[in-house]
Amino acid sequence: MIKKILLALSLAPTIAFANQVEILADNIEQKVIQWRHHLHQYPELSNREFKTAAYVEKHLRALGLEVQTGVAITGVVGVLDSGKPGPTVALRADMDGLPVLEQNDLPWKSTQRGVFNGNDVPVMHACGHDTHVAMLMGAAEILVDMKDQLTGKVKFIFQPAEEGAPAGEKGGAEVMVEEGVLKNPDVDAIFGLHISSNTDVGKVRYREGGVMAAVDPFKIVIKGKQAHGAYPWLSVDPITTAAQLIMSVQTIVSRELRLLDDAAVITFGKINGGVRSNIIPNEVELVGTIRTLNKEAREHIYEALPRKMKGIADSMRAEAELTLPLDYNYPITFNDHDLMAKMLPTLVETAGQENVLYSKPVTGAEDFSFFQEEVPGVYLWIGGKPLDVDEKDAPAHHTPEFYVDDSGMKLGVKLLTNLTLDYMEKHAK
Ligand SMILES: [Zn+2]
Ligand SMILES: [Zn+2]
Repeated sequence: MIKKILLALSLAPTIAFANQVEILADNIEQKVIQWRHHLHQYPELSNREFKTAAYVEKHLRALGLEVQTGVAITGVVGVLDSGKPGPTVALRADMDGLPVLEQNDLPWKSTQRGVFNGNDVPVMHACGHDTHVAMLMGAAEILVDMKDQLTGKVKFIFQPAEEGAPAGEKGGAEVMVEEGVLKNPDVDAIFGLHISSNTDVGKVRYREGGVMAAVDPFKIVIKGKQAHGAYPWLSVDPITTAAQLIMSVQTIVSRELRLLDDAAVITFGKINGGVRSNIIPNEVELVGTIRTLNKEAREHIYEALPRKMKGIADSMRAEAELTLPLDYNYPITFNDHDLMAKMLPTLVETAGQENVLYSKPVTGAEDFSFFQEEVPGVYLWIGGKPLDVDEKDAPAHHTPEFYVDDSGMKLGVKLLTNLTLDYMEKHAK
């Protein structure tokens, strides 16, 4: 890690705009905080970000940007055209909150409610997407201020439904890509940030390659033959078949994957079969999730899972059917190696060498990956944890106590701005 940072320093160019961005970020900080408090107080669920979208739209129009609304239901896209030739850089913020009841005692605490899959639920920005929206609104304002110094175009993408669309709906980055968000003007590179409740304010964490996992939910139905529990020889037992299959599938990760490269996970989250003690049922249903950080591992599991199923089912005279992916899937959040290497000096210059941390990958997922499947992209984490809170006491994302501090956002605003300026400088057309 130390080696990497030193290398980055030795390659660091003089960032011509860094001082100006610093001053503009200082000037705008209180506004960003006010926007964040408003957004935090009025969170909305995935695919229902109507007021949030209107709030963003109003800001982008006031800045004089060309604005498109209703992208993937509630998405808002603003384009800043410098009028000079150059690349198109996209910056992305996700906008949705979660069905969580906020427990923090804040003047801007959420008391909002919404409907999720037919149920009345509390709504909270329990993943920090309020800060993402506020930071990108801030970066947009600074970049508009610096328009004369830009070469190319900037696309501001405010994305709905990162946390997943409600049942029966599609949404988020995948749909935005389908609707052409990366086209016209065609995006050359995309950057995104996630605030982190257990990373110190002022720090930025990065990694190249697989940074967050692909998610592939699956369903297996094992079909046997029903019989009285007292006469198992008359059955083809899907329960004992399922038991063997679950254990056998665990060996795909532990015995077949090259774990030195990357971690991988196969988890069964649900088993359903049978009604009472003395009946061997007809079938058993298993539902699980696969998490991988590189393409080879993902492809390997796609090959191995049906192989294990067939081997075990055949040996038990049962049949097994696989649905993979089950209802949705996310690709690997993959930071393009060249782009990450090229932009690392910007992180060092913006945050200070001691604040740039090389990160471990995460087996959670992020639909920013859909953008990265189309164009080179870099996804970073920035700190939201107050310095006086111990890491082990920091409340986790998606919990009622989740908290990230306002003071973490200034670094995010600066990073989004400097990444754009530096990318343009390095890719002048
Ligand atoms: Zn989340
Ligand atoms: Zn999130």
